[in-house]
Amino acid sequence: MSPERRTAAALADALAAGEATSVEVTQAHLDRIDEVDGALHAFLHVDAEGALRDAAASDARRAAGESWGPLDGIPIAVKDVMATRGLPTTCGSRILAGWVPPYDATVVARLRAGGLPIVGKTNMDEFAMGSSTEHSAWGPTHNPWDLARIPGGSGGGSAAAVASYEAPLAIGTDTGGSIRQPGAVTGTVGVKPTYGGVSRYGLVALANSLDQAGPVTRTVLDAALLHEVIGGHDPLDSTSIEQPLPALVEAARRGADGDLTGVRVGVVKELGGEGYQAGVLARFEESVELMTKAGAEVVEVSCPSFVHALATYYLILPAEASSNLARFDAMRYGLRVTPDVAENGAGPSAEDVMRATREAGFGDEVKRRIILGTYALSSGYYDAYYGQAQKVRTLVTRDFAAAFGHADVLVSPTAPTTAFKIGEKVDDPLAMYLNDLATIPANLSGVPGISIPSGLADEDGLPAGVQILAPAMADDRVYRVGAALESLLAAEWGGALLDQAPPLVEEGGLRRSRDHGGEG
Ligand code: GLN
Repeated sequence: MSPERRTAAALADALAAGEATSVEVTQAHLDRIDEVDGALHAFLHVDAEGALRDAAASDARRAAGESWGPLDGIPIAVKDVMATRGLPTTCGSRILAGWVPPYDATVVARLRAGGLPIVGKTNMDEFAMGSSTEHSAWGPTHNPWDLARIPGGSGGGSAAAVASYEAPLAIGTDTGGSIRQPGAVTGTVGVKPTYGGVSRYGLVALANSLDQAGPVTRTVLDAALLHEVIGGHDPLDSTSIEQPLPALVEAARRGADGDLTGVRVGVVKELGGEGYQAGVLARFEESVELMTKAGAEVVEVSCPSFVHALATYYLILPAEASSNLARFDAMRYGLRVTPDVAENGAGPSAEDVMRATREAGFGDEVKRRIILGTYALSSGYYDAYYGQAQKVRTLVTRDFAAAFGHADVLVSPTAPTTAFKIGEKVDDPLAMYLNDLATIPANLSGVPGISIPSGLADEDGLPAGVQILAPAMADDRVYRVGAALESLLAAEWGGALLDQAPPLVEEGGLRRSRDHGGEG
């Protein structure tokens, strides 16, 4: 098997056994990026030189009998919302064009300290606002299963990179579903850790009370390995939890035997049914059936306030985003547009520059949310909107607490549909927002969640995902149950779901889409 088709765990074994070097593995992935990224556009920036330098250093360490940890030498891609010292960081926005951070996010610093070469920065919806990566100022990313379709969002670049074997691992961020929903529509695994479980230092904030960085991988075990590298307390993040992470890799290895005897699985009544594609629901029901056969006690739980989660999120998120994005003032970072006003002969004022920069630098979706958020926070409306939303947020948390009284984990489909066509929802904000119906409650309450592939869900042969949620700081449960379901499903399919993806590269060149197969 070519190096880039292997999981991170298998690559780590190969490095340890001396069957491959980090330089070879990293080069194989860079070659793959060269080969397919012209069609995918998963990357905004590729750092071949830096990655190969770090890979060579990893090989030298290994030769000297030293190791910086289980993923030392395994290449990784990082969502462009994480600050990377010396590497451009744009958050998918024109307003950060040309900005090169002088420091590393804690997650990035931990990747470097763990010896993982960073191959590049991945595409995303501008400031992580979106579910399709079409709101990137630098053009959309395409889904490797069908290039005419979206790879999910906001972290579509990370998911597409992992699904297309451009990188074995990637970092995503999840504020309302941006790791899990791209995972579902690209047939990959995505984990949103417990809020406070992974440092937010250097993660350019969308909504501080909701944002979490996490792993994007092809297997549950790979996600656990990566989570242990990036997670744990960080004094630089005031919301970081001062507790050690649970044993995640151990949980993933334990789950791999597929035995769920005695595990109580709660099916959330409100996350399913109307608005969900029939094939997505069918794959979900099969997963639940497999868990039952494997010994799980399946119960239905009701979380009535979840039906208000989306509306609540779209008050809290814009409110926090509007205040966060105020820092892009044309003075400190990236873009600066200087208008030639001079009505009275004078030069433009600081305000003129700020207005012109923000007008040119932000895209429509970002402007929409700044306006919504500013409105929701304005005096006279604050109690009616923001204050009310915070109360509903508490109800969501209470629903979770009650449900976890009856179940160890909760399950639902991850996203209501399979990947839709590029262009289909981009002009319909509400239709776009509805993609996160099932993922948002976890962010409002801070609980951890994983999405794993549940199978091919429609006549076009596109993947869907199943979501597993656990109580805060019980991230080990999502790994144990996720790994169990993953191995039960693999036994059904006779292998990994991604092996059923149509080849990105065919004889005669890159395929552009199912409808235009062979063209381009
Ligand atoms: N799609 C959601 C939004 O647009 C979630 C984004 C995210 O998780 N970053 O807000």
